[in-house]
Amino acid sequence: MRHLFAVLAASTLIPAAAIAQDAPTSATGKEALGLLTRGIAFKTVQGEGQVPAYAAYLKQQLVSAGFADGDVTFVPIGETGYLTARIAGRDRKAKPTVVLGHMDVVAADAKDWTRDPFTPVVEDGYVFGRGSLDNKANVSLVVATLMKLKREKWVPKRDLVLVLTGDEETEMKTTQAAANAFANAGLVLNADAGGGALGEDGKPIAYGLQAAEKVYGDWHLTVTDPGGHSSRPGPRNAIAVLANAVVRIANYRFPPQQNEITKASLAGTAAATPGELGAAMKAFAANPADTAAADILSADKRYVGQVRTTCVPTMFNGGHAPNALPQRAMANINCRIFPGTPRAEIEKKLVELVADPTIKVTFRDNGTIEAGASPLDPKVVGAVKAVVAKRAPGTPVLPMQEAGATDSMHFRAKGIPSFGVGGVFMKPGEIFAHGLNERVPVATIDPGVVWWEELLKTLG
Ligand SMILES: [Zn+2]
Repeated sequence: MRHLFAVLAASTLIPAAAIAQDAPTSATGKEALGLLTRGIAFKTVQGEGQVPAYAAYLKQQLVSAGFADGDVTFVPIGETGYLTARIAGRDRKAKPTVVLGHMDVVAADAKDWTRDPFTPVVEDGYVFGRGSLDNKANVSLVVATLMKLKREKWVPKRDLVLVLTGDEETEMKTTQAAANAFANAGLVLNADAGGGALGEDGKPIAYGLQAAEKVYGDWHLTVTDPGGHSSRPGPRNAIAVLANAVVRIANYRFPPQQNEITKASLAGTAAATPGELGAAMKAFAANPADTAAADILSADKRYVGQVRTTCVPTMFNGGHAPNALPQRAMANINCRIFPGTPRAEIEKKLVELVADPTIKVTFRDNGTIEAGASPLDPKVVGAVKAVVAKRAPGTPVLPMQEAGATDSMHFRAKGIPSFGVGGVFMKPGEIFAHGLNERVPVATIDPGVVWWEELLKTLG
């Protein structure tokens, strides 16, 4: 998970007031809290080799609740791997439903944290620790819920498979393997995206249902030149040639785009957004050709990613000595592509903007994949609306297109509808996923397990 609420970041103040403990009272909630605090202690950072140990712990928990040993598997891939746990459905031939999450976490430097990132601390109504939110909160909620359902001998309509990947934050090799193994899935419910946003008063504002992600792409622009003594410059200088091309790209604006997800999320956010910005949301949602509205939205960092593909220079280097003409200059262009737009189309535009055949434009493959948006399935939207209505009556459900990327892209790329339906409700300003002092409110645990149970029973 990168940004839980790309479109809901309006309330970003952290309250000074301490929050009540809100310890879970339900047996499943208590179990989830136990799974979470134990889970944080596994340092599942890339290179630490701790994912298999965490997976073994989760497996032991699932088996203790009645899962057959053979129904919980771990597929090792390098130092990590992915875990699967299956509850057989009544119709074994029907396409399974995958509940997706990830076990790995982003690295954390203990000396920068107030508390040790891998020692779980429950304090002031929060669980602190790396992964407390991303993604061990929802993983713990789901695992505790599945343990409850297994004990109750619940049988879904179709097979329900929990898939927990082991390198979502880095290479997604386990994701790719899992997506290949479950290419027959009919639906993916991703626990690593989507969630409820609370206002400053702690009351729910909206629920974000993640149905699309921007597509990531890096291109290198490279210029080479014979160079020479800097006292004898010629008409061409590799750094200057490249700099001009980079400026052309930086100044270019890709045309505004819209899909049913951004249309619905902007229209929904407009209602709660005052002034010019809210008016622009409303106007753009109604008419994607309204370039004036698109310009207003693009001027706001929170919304620029919702409106168009963006390509920006992120790295630049060149030259080898202060007194030599540069022999080489390189720039990295980072693009966040509107889903559904082919990468080839973006590359064509970059080449056109560079407008110089001596500048080499090369795509840098980092394993991210082209995936379109998941069409808003009324069955899924209806189920999410129903669980939101129970948990937080009157709270709108807003479809959401994320600026970052999650495991869902590998399933969406295979045409499997994938929706981020996380059960955590918190204030957007308190989301420190990937950052310092990551935390999750304890108060979200009890309603969180109810959330998953109702969602799985409706959609499973
Ligand atoms: Zn995540």
